[in-house]
Amino acid sequence: MIPKPAQYLLRFDDLCPSMSRNRWLRFLPQILEFGIQPILAVIPDNQDPELQVDDPVPDFWPQMRTMEAAGATIGLHGYRHLCASEGTSLLPFHRISEFAGLPEETQREWISAGLGILRGHGLNPRIWVAPRHGFDSATLRALRKEGIGMISDGLARVPFTRSGITWIPQQLWGPLEKTGGVWTILLHANTAPDSLMRELEIFVRQHAAQFTSVDRVIAESPLGQLGLGERLVEAAALLRLKQRQIVKRFIYRT
Ligand SMILES: [Zn+2]
Repeated sequence: MIPKPAQYLLRFDDLCPSMSRNRWLRFLPQILEFGIQPILAVIPDNQDPELQVDDPVPDFWPQMRTMEAAGATIGLHGYRHLCASEGTSLLPFHRISEFAGLPEETQREWISAGLGILRGHGLNPRIWVAPRHGFDSATLRALRKEGIGMISDGLARVPFTRSGITWIPQQLWGPLEKTGGVWTILLHANTAPDSLMRELEIFVRQHAAQFTSVDRVIAESPLGQLGLGERLVEAAALLRLKQRQIVKRFIYRT
């Protein structure tokens, strides 16, 4: 059997009415030209001063609705994007997060409020995107109770099911050619340098047919628990991540 070529998903984080409009607009031509169906990770009630770049634009919500109607998947990107908790996350990318470590009731309350805000704007959030990859088993329980059964996170090469949740891993922060698997490329439209944007443009042009959507990933993936081989890949990636964090803390004394 010929192995299936790699599939790519694009994910844009930190979308909110006060993000840098000009920086976000740089990505739209490629999305439209190639019919990309990205994950749009929207912050329901942004309070993060770093993401208050422009005056809130009135057409933000209609634009998100239009993009969802064209096949994008709306992600719930936390609640207020204020990362003040030092709880331990299932993925140790950062020391502080918005959700990890908080009581499950609080997490559920925030998730419910966030979903309510996005739905109030006519969106249908279907996937959880944790700010700073910060979430724990209480987050997963709260998500299940609120009817959200998918997250965009994890380090395996293929989507899988764990703790009653479908994980679509997010492993890349820029375009990178792969030979197989499902790879989510995360972009922060607010801060992505022009060089990254140009790289992405070339990559999307070359690999347009390999870009997929959340719905296609779900339809085409076996979605069981990870086999031993993939669990080892995941464990090795997690170990590399922990080592990097230790080195970073040692150097920067964070
Ligand atoms: Zn974020």
